[in-house]
Amino acid sequence: MEFSSRSRQKHLRLAGDRRELYPHSLQFYLEPPTESIALVEFESFAIDRLRLLKVVENLGVSCVRSSDSYKAKLESELRKLKFPYRALAEDDYEARRKDHISHFILRLAYCQSEDLRRWFLQQEMDLFRYRFSQLTESLMQKFLEHVNLSFEAVTEDQKLELAHELSASTPGLSVPKVKEQMFYKVGLVDAVDLFRTRRVFIKDGFAYVPFKEIDAIVLNNYRIKLSKALALTARSLPSIQSDERLQPLLNHLSHSYVGPDYSVQKNTGKISLEQIDALSVKSFPLCMRQLHKALRDSHHLRHGGRMQYGLFLKGIGLTLEQALEFWKKEFIRGKVDADKFDKGYAYSIRHNYGREGKRTDYTPYSCMKIIMSNPPSQGDYHGCPFRHSDPELLKQKLQSYKVPPSGITQILELVKGMHYQLACQKYFELTHEVDDVGFSLNHPNQYFTESQRLLSGGREPKKELSNSGNSQQKNNSQESMNSNLTPTSSNTTADAELEGLEAYFTED
Ligand code: SF4
Repeated sequence: MEFSSRSRQKHLRLAGDRRELYPHSLQFYLEPPTESIALVEFESFAIDRLRLLKVVENLGVSCVRSSDSYKAKLESELRKLKFPYRALAEDDYEARRKDHISHFILRLAYCQSEDLRRWFLQQEMDLFRYRFSQLTESLMQKFLEHVNLSFEAVTEDQKLELAHELSASTPGLSVPKVKEQMFYKVGLVDAVDLFRTRRVFIKDGFAYVPFKEIDAIVLNNYRIKLSKALALTARSLPSIQSDERLQPLLNHLSHSYVGPDYSVQKNTGKISLEQIDALSVKSFPLCMRQLHKALRDSHHLRHGGRMQYGLFLKGIGLTLEQALEFWKKEFIRGKVDADKFDKGYAYSIRHNYGREGKRTDYTPYSCMKIIMSNPPSQGDYHGCPFRHSDPELLKQKLQSYKVPPSGITQILELVKGMHYQLACQKYFELTHEVDDVGFSLNHPNQYFTESQRLLSGGREPKKELSNSGNSQQKNNSQESMNSNLTPTSSNTTADAELEGLEAYFTED
């Protein structure tokens, strides 16, 4: 792919119309795009695919994959984002092109670490599985030929001759059902999973695979190809990293979330310092609750914690004056005296609010940034507890926050599957007593905003909060509520600028 400025975009798009490249709406993404593409389009394609994969991840945990609601929700998202949503439409060149290019952009962004590769592979596999299942029989056949997986169909005569063997070796298929099904002769290498689990009839070095099992073979083939491609792409990273236009974009994507950046607050000054303790219990996500508690307990946070928590507090509405008062009051209760605070720490807080240095209005960290970068070490409290805590410690913490045992088990399962944001959503559901979180979590400040909206009656809770602690929380929240807590801003983040800011936070 080559990249161009916006002004050349129209010309290049016309020149690059290559319908013959996409004979099918589905593909294994074997050939990278070779056309020129504007950086604007590059970024918008990538962000749309990231949105789509996040929906795939969410649905994969909240719905049964073969259920009608899973299919309906995924189709609706594909339509909304203008990706090919059904293989039936022949004239969906734009959607196919977007699908192809966006896959390769995210492949570049998500090949950079083992965690990213695994996440990308999982979501792409789920997306492929859904789209393959939507193909009609003839389109499926056409697709198999397209990807060189055209297996020989077993003739009617052969099938009748082997009907009893096929029925006995294929779970769930009676002889009459065998007669209705198409069977394919598949080489053993392609059918390893099926014959290992004794789900197919084997004869003369071929597995006799019923049509309904072909998807397992195709998916396995796709998984192998995509895993290899990701590993190969990772090896070519040094050359990609030397492209100064591309690297910041790819880094941004792999640390990115899609939503507001919470750098502009409509609620600035509407939260009092006295409310923070109560808010930390009822409306802070676990990462911020942990930081707040550590600050109150030890009257200090190291610089990673001050950055993460300070920008979050700014995002929920603390003014610069409030922030200075908040941090100073707490620090001087520990080992830092007022003079040292004014000289050492006040500057960095003003910097945080864009009043010093480059005067940039810094953005609170998204979940992806917290999860993917700067892991905490001994004595640190920043990071994401779902990602960075030992499971046993996480379990104890959740127990101490009165999360029910069954909920803890669900959270730990999600953590085990590396679905950290989904684990956090589950924590939200359990602590707010709602059945469905109703949003896709990407940002700690989004968690706070949604919590406040729910507690203020903006959304219906599952049932009346029953224990006195929770009732108290609800009352408090209603007092502190304001309906304008959702900030609006552009999608841009200031990761690069934050690195500059971190230099000001050298003092532990
Ligand atoms: Fe914080 Fe996001 Fe982790 Fe939740 S998922 S604890 S909001 S970083």
